[in-house]
Amino acid sequence: MSAPAKSVLNESKQIERAAMLIEMGARMQVLESETTLSYERLIRLYKEIAGKSPSKGQLPFSTDWFLTWQENIHSSLFLNIYEYLSKGVSLDSVELLTKAYRLYNEQVAAAQIEPLLSFTRAWRLVKFVDAGMLTRTKCSQCGGQFVTELYENRHYTCGLCNPPARAGKSKSAGALTLH
Ligand SMILES: [Zn+2]
Repeated sequence: MSAPAKSVLNESKQIERAAMLIEMGARMQVLESETTLSYERLIRLYKEIAGKSPSKGQLPFSTDWFLTWQENIHSSLFLNIYEYLSKGVSLDSVELLTKAYRLYNEQVAAAQIEPLLSFTRAWRLVKFVDAGMLTRTKCSQCGGQFVTELYENRHYTCGLCNPPARAGKSKSAGALTLH
């Protein structure tokens, strides 16, 4: 195949990838990181597909969000799905992420829980895990795998086995409640 034909093919693949990410609700940060298209190109594509300008501002570069109670349970659910899928069929990183995110949404919808984890957050979570800033630790009580910092101790108990005092008191629909 000649070089120009190759680059056209590659570009259409990049556009397809960007479109898929925009449809999942990804923010510009994700698009810039996961495709080779220029910023201007991505903005135009975003407006075309989402029908609005992308929201400005970056996500805070902090692992805290993933470690707070309800957010941690959602993050752990997603990461378990992601890790499970990554061991099976070989998918590229974006395919893996979108597939895992769809499954996460299906699971929370089935449990009638509001999905707390946005696609961009899910992407960020995987980045933190890849960078060795977050990992999964087995709960010493229920045996489930939960998102934690790297050096959690052996007697770690998860947010479901050991919920904070305020947990489960939220009256908002779709919040996690404990039985
Ligand atoms: Zn537990």
